[in-house]
Amino acid sequence: MAHDSTQYIIIGAGLFGTAAAWRLAQSGKDVIILERSIPATESGSSHGSARIFRYPYMNQPTTSLVKDARSQWNELEAITGKRLITPSGCLDTGSVRNPELLASILSFEGIEHELLDADAAKQRWPQLNFPGPVLWHPEAGVINAGETVAAMNNLAIQAGAHLRCGWEVESVARQGAGYRVTSTTGNIVEGEQVIVASGGWLPSLLGNLQLPQGFLERMPEIQVRQENAYHFHYRDTSDWGETPLGENTSWPCFISKEPEFQGYGLPGGGDAGFRGQKVAEYNGGRVIGHAGNQDGVVDAANRQRVIDFVKSSCPGLIPEPYAETTCIFTNIPDDRMIIDRAEGITIVSACSGQGAKFAP
Ligand SMILES: Cc1cc2nc3c(=O)[nH]c(=O)nc-3n(C[C@H](O)[C@H](O)[C@H](O)COP(=O)(O)OP(=O)(O)OC[C@H]3O[C@@H](n4cnc5c(N)ncnc54)[C@H](O)[C@@H]3O)c2cc1C
Repeated sequence: MAHDSTQYIIIGAGLFGTAAAWRLAQSGKDVIILERSIPATESGSSHGSARIFRYPYMNQPTTSLVKDARSQWNELEAITGKRLITPSGCLDTGSVRNPELLASILSFEGIEHELLDADAAKQRWPQLNFPGPVLWHPEAGVINAGETVAAMNNLAIQAGAHLRCGWEVESVARQGAGYRVTSTTGNIVEGEQVIVASGGWLPSLLGNLQLPQGFLERMPEIQVRQENAYHFHYRDTSDWGETPLGENTSWPCFISKEPEFQGYGLPGGGDAGFRGQKVAEYNGGRVIGHAGNQDGVVDAANRQRVIDFVKSSCPGLIPEPYAETTCIFTNIPDDRMIIDRAEGITIVSACSGQGAKFAP
């Protein structure tokens, strides 16, 4: 059986494990990343070309955190020479989304935006219908999640990190001043510190990490869903196709939250052949306990709800999905994320289905 040792062991090569690996390796630390599959695996949360990068949150500190994240994205894009966020702008609407409150938070943070009534918004974006006031902020964009994982993974490896694929962690046990990590096949890696970035698999791993009981008891309840997402063709074919800048479409991202339906849409990019908008119901998938329970089967009732939403709210889309997928979505209460540490074990879980924007 293989037996390695290092300073930092990172479990998981999604957006968060590779971000941690990049930063640690860049600062001269010895790092081994252990990944049960491959980086940005299709069965995790960080694959594909489309996640929304947007600023407004219902609370000011999180909006401020997005600003911090943007400067790290700028650094990552400058180092790699790749554009990882394609500008698109984003529209926020619906009484639950509360565009007026979001506008006041963007004003406080000095982020460019406009608040429009539904008629004015309809004139500018005839491809959408709006239930009420609309917040527009042009600095939003579409994150290419898969490319970002690849970029951070490459930077980590260039800085000396090692990646082990097909290495599924079964347990973490204390050993002397550090930790001993054992795989499901009996391989061992020893390290001084462990960073657990296992996404939707966290609930099934938590009990095997030898964490202090008090820490485990304070851990928020983690809800893992098998979310569904669909791609709908743009009616206007001039929106199809990739331009040299990658700005393939005039479509913005949008988030629409009404009590009866909370949905979002964004240019699907390469995942959708640059021909359509990715649309999904927020928290519309079934709760599955942990990511190991996913079956990848799209929920027919959810598909119909999203089609109905597209019919009523997105007249510029053909209301018949031409591609669909499932994806692992994790949530803890109040749309928060977990970054916490007990002794030498750090748990990093970019929960709440909105963590991609914070990765770097
Ligand atoms: C449909 C969908 C839409 C989203 N939309 C947005 C959005 O618009 N904007 C936004 O900012 N965010 C969005 N997100 C959220 C964002 O994508 C996630 O927060 C982020 O990808 C989580 O990354 P992660 O590294 O924590 O998890 P993951 O990417 O799941 O990575 C975890 C990794 O750990 C590995 N692993 C697990 N267990 C083990 C083990 N025992 N041993 C070894 N390896 C293990 C897994 O194989 C996996 O590669 C969305 C997510 C989904 C699913």
